[in-house]
Amino acid sequence: MTFSISEKLKIVNDYIDRSEPPIHVIPLANELGIEVYKADWPSTVSGKIQRDPERGGSSGYAIFVNRSHSEQRRRFTIAHEIAHFVLHEDRIGEGLYDDGLYRSGLRTHEETDANQLAADILMPRRLMEEFSFVGDDIETLAHQFNVSEQAMAIRLGVGAVW
Ligand SMILES: [Zn+2]
Repeated sequence: MTFSISEKLKIVNDYIDRSEPPIHVIPLANELGIEVYKADWPSTVSGKIQRDPERGGSSGYAIFVNRSHSEQRRRFTIAHEIAHFVLHEDRIGEGLYDDGLYRSGLRTHEETDANQLAADILMPRRLMEEFSFVGDDIETLAHQFNVSEQAMAIRLGVGAVW
């Protein structure tokens, strides 16, 4: 099963349109034909996406995420690896390792694009508008979308950029 970038983005957008916060990223990966596993790594590794005929889903890919990281961090990592599959499948080769700062050897703008799509997945603008209310603070929104306060602050344009 091979999808074009626009077909993959449509799967992602359709999934988000059916969702309420928090967005569940493992079922989204599964819809794209990707299986997700936890891995025992040093904390300096965030995640990996690799071609994996045995453990991969129907797309042939599997995502691995650092078991020792927080749930919010793991959710961001999975969304980031999904973004690499959507945007950069032709660049994955036999596998991409993302370090603690989400650097995998791809170009900086590719990592920025993956972080941006990850934010779009975890904190979709439509749901942000629908489910956030005047007076909601970063802590409340971060809890609602099950992301880190740092990620939410960046999304709201009030945090440091990566
Ligand atoms: Zn990356």
